[in-house]
Amino acid sequence: MVPDIEGVYRDDLMEKAGRKLVSPDIDAVLLTHAHADHVDYISFLHEKIPIYMGSTCHMMLQAIQDRSSSDFEREVLEYKPVHSKRGEPKIQRKIETFRSGKKFKVGSLEVLPIHVDHSIPGAYGFIIYTSEGPVVYTGDIRLHGTKPEMTEEFIREAKAAKPIALLCEGTRIKDEPTNESEERVYKESNKLVSKTNNLIFADFNFKDIDRVRTFYNVAKENGKKLVVKIRDCHYLKHLSADPQLDVPNFDDENIVIYKPKYRSGTYADSDYVGDDSFFASLPNAKTASEISANAGKYLCALGYFQFTSLIDMKPKNGTVYIHSASEPYNEEQVIALDRVNNWLEHFGMKKYQIHCSGHAKGEDLLHVVKDIDAKMLYPIHTEHPTEYVKVTNKLTIVEEGKKYQI
Ligand SMILES: [Zn+2]
Repeated sequence: MVPDIEGVYRDDLMEKAGRKLVSPDIDAVLLTHAHADHVDYISFLHEKIPIYMGSTCHMMLQAIQDRSSSDFEREVLEYKPVHSKRGEPKIQRKIETFRSGKKFKVGSLEVLPIHVDHSIPGAYGFIIYTSEGPVVYTGDIRLHGTKPEMTEEFIREAKAAKPIALLCEGTRIKDEPTNESEERVYKESNKLVSKTNNLIFADFNFKDIDRVRTFYNVAKENGKKLVVKIRDCHYLKHLSADPQLDVPNFDDENIVIYKPKYRSGTYADSDYVGDDSFFASLPNAKTASEISANAGKYLCALGYFQFTSLIDMKPKNGTVYIHSASEPYNEEQVIALDRVNNWLEHFGMKKYQIHCSGHAKGEDLLHVVKDIDAKMLYPIHTEHPTEYVKVTNKLTIVEEGKKYQI
């Protein structure tokens, strides 16, 4: 699915594909944040191409790398060439980190990164100063999250730059208006949790640290412990090191680590700890039967991919399942939802949808574009680019594979 661009990809992959090797002619890749749809295909790039990212984004990628089993699409910070021998060192990419508000240079261009609020820490927008004028890219943004002042700062700076071009995301440009907020997720979940003395499941993306904090606080407020997966401990380990993020580490007294029964049918540590000695002893780990024996004491951050654990946990009829992620928007996700519903129905569990999106709603996006008021708008990351005609007639609908000159 990656586009056929010369001088971009890794030599080992080009060789494997029977293509001739061309040394890279790209000065930089600017990464806005660590979500898979923005970062994963860096894995295919030539290691000589420098990748620029925020320091927090870099930390997030280290956590993702630690947590994932080695996978072709997760070779972002380093990679193992195909056909490399056992024990051969991995190839490290050139990573350049930046901080919000600190300009850096790429050739003749000056780039100013500014933090924005999104459903993952370490997200940025860019103002790129060119000889023809500034070009602005929003990255993924929202104004209804926990730190709207960051996105507002970006909009202010972008507007002041008087850009000749704005590349704006438009994921939810056509969605119905909502009054969602992280505060609402907290309040609604807290209400549900305070009324139940039973097991509770919360299904959410662990990269969304705001959501981790929300459910950690809900559990704590109600005298329960938050049950997390072993793999998610990597996020807590890395991110708790940054006091600004205000995340507990995995050995926090209000956190319990779920100890799944592994393929061997045992609970042997070596089964799932692997070679990461850091997790060799897990004092606060509990098995399914230990958790279900004290069901009222736990809020489980376990979702769809851990549903087989329900067989061991034996949730009672009426057990609450909070789906705290976006509603399905494609066919694959609808099928996944059918499976979720089958599991829930089997155990007589009750589902609640409580979520706050990482993307700005339509009215906010229109306000962003109007406010920044660039000479030309290029909507990207959207299926409905023409929606922006509501606020501008200086619009270019981009086509895949086409080059645009400013
Ligand atoms: Zn994103």
